Amino acid sequence: MARTRQQTPAPSPAGLAAAEPADIQRLVEELDSMLSRLRLGAIREQLDGLLEEAARRQLNLREALAWLCAAEVTSKEQRRLSMAMTIARFPFVRTLEGFEFEAQPSIDPGKIRDLATCRWVANGDNVVLLGPPGVGKTHLEVALGREAVARGYTVQFTTAMELLGSLVKGQQQGTLEARLAQYSKPKLLIIDELGYLPLEPQAGHLFFQLISRRYEQGSVLISSNRPVEEWDEVFGDQVVAAAILDRLMHHSHVVTIRGDSYRLREKRRAGLFRPPAGGSSLAGIGGVPPPMPAKEA
Ligand code: ADP
Ligand code: MG
Repeated sequence: MARTRQQTPAPSPAGLAAAEPADIQRLVEELDSMLSRLRLGAIREQLDGLLEEAARRQLNLREALAWLCAAEVTSKEQRRLSMAMTIARFPFVRTLEGFEFEAQPSIDPGKIRDLATCRWVANGDNVVLLGPPGVGKTHLEVALGREAVARGYTVQFTTAMELLGSLVKGQQQGTLEARLAQYSKPKLLIIDELGYLPLEPQAGHLFFQLISRRYEQGSVLISSNRPVEEWDEVFGDQVVAAAILDRLMHHSHVVTIRGDSYRLREKRRAGLFRPPAGGSSLAGIGGVPPPMPAKEA
């Protein structure tokens, strides 16, 4: 289709060589629209400031051009990043810098920093985070997910409930294929909170279909408050659970967190809570859940 925008065509470089000062002036008047046409929005918006700064630094033409391009590249990269973060649908912002490793001695900081390089995402490996409530599983999922986004990988965050609810609905409505395809697309799929709530009887089989599809293609980062030995109970089917674990664990890194809830720790510090009798190193993991305050933050 022909372009409908009314714009003076820019002269060819050969034409430019013969351009009169008046032509150059006309080009300057067209600069704004040419920058729009080339989608160089950052240069267009900051042009005066950038040119003044380039003049102040006495940059030559090549340097000035590089300076302008750098402004555009930075702005485009920031936009890409913020868009990818939105698409990932993280529930909140958490970072590795904001994670207190001292508060959770069962976690090896070196292992988490190694995971933060995202080599496992590049390889299509999986990460399984296990531990009782409040020990920072979701925090680490979001932080690692953000690292993956920053490295240019597509990421989607979901909860086990949301994911399986969607697949069950897809099966009922005849849209399972589309939904499986949707959850297979991101290079990294983060599945939070497996095992907290009972699943529907067919959920295990649907989950297996998704994990099979993603197997050795894209990574899964999954967290659970239940040790993997109890996943047959989680899925209500020993055979399906074994098949899921077989694929999930084949190329995987398992991080088991043993310790107290960070939230309760904060409350204990504030004197709102007494420590549990006899310690709670494994509280909640497949056993008795840790004491819950009346209302958690
Ligand atoms: P889980 O998913 O294991 O239940 P969360 O990741 O939701 O736990 O952690 C609960 C809250 O405590 C979150 O706000 C999280 O950022 C914070 N938190 C947990 N562990 C740490 C930690 N080691 N350092 C800093 N904040 C933490
Ligand atoms: Mg959580």
